[in-house]
Amino acid sequence: MFNANPFQQPGQWYRGNTHSHSTESDGQLSIGDRFAAYRDAGYDFLVLTDHRKVNDVQAHTTSDFLAISGSEVHPDNPYGGDTYHFVAINIHERINCAKMHPNAVLDEIKAQGGEAVLCHPYWSGHTILDYLPLRSYFAIEVYNDSCVDIGKEFSEQAWDDLLDRGGPVLGIAADDSHGTESDCFHGWIMVKAEELTLDSIMEALRTGAFYSTLGPEIKDMTLDGKELTVKCSEAQSIVFKAQCSRGKRVLPSDGELLTEATYSIPESVKYVRVEITDATGKKAWSNPFFF
Ligand SMILES: [Zn+2]
Ligand SMILES: [Zn+2]
Repeated sequence: MFNANPFQQPGQWYRGNTHSHSTESDGQLSIGDRFAAYRDAGYDFLVLTDHRKVNDVQAHTTSDFLAISGSEVHPDNPYGGDTYHFVAINIHERINCAKMHPNAVLDEIKAQGGEAVLCHPYWSGHTILDYLPLRSYFAIEVYNDSCVDIGKEFSEQAWDDLLDRGGPVLGIAADDSHGTESDCFHGWIMVKAEELTLDSIMEALRTGAFYSTLGPEIKDMTLDGKELTVKCSEAQSIVFKAQCSRGKRVLPSDGELLTEATYSIPESVKYVRVEITDATGKKAWSNPFFF
């Protein structure tokens, strides 16, 4: 379950994007060019998630870059909202969603050894009504860069609604890259893993050993009893978010920027996650600590 504090685990940090498309669906780059673009941009891994397809990506893994197969699948939504978009990380057989209940699709992703992400909630118009009946997903996209063009890239409230009313769920920043520039290299995850292998990266994802960012770096998080301290690159605000009305925002004094903040967690708090905003407005999100 999600119990990892990546900052207190052995291993190295690996930069990755969990959502991307090629010309096999509606992307503008071939499979090879899509992987090469991310490798050349300094990423350690990329998940290729073409719509309704699974591509063989093995040839694109090298000694210092991991290509992961996946898919974006679109089951019908019996709960009133628009069609679902689930990113399936690490599946190897196409899932034909026609006439499948969304939970059957999520079960099939798990049966293949994969993990499911609920994509771009704000862009999809999805709310807790669409998500509460679902099971067996591990994360929600808190940020999706391809949704910038209609101003619906942030889905923080959908994440918090699920944390408040559903159960533990992780947050992922992803590009959902289709093009060559505008929706590439803007949102990613930093994963702490033993090594750059499929098993190691998948284990780190499952246990929550990662954070999401548009640029700011989270350098350390320590939980000492009920004191949570975060250290980060220079920030204009550090916000500790807990359920409903609980939490705390820390601002700098005297025009300085912050690099550290501490939250004394009240007994009533079920979870805390951290949001960091730098001087240019770029954000980073930790995963929640659950109590
Ligand atoms: Zn989508
Ligand atoms: Zn997509």
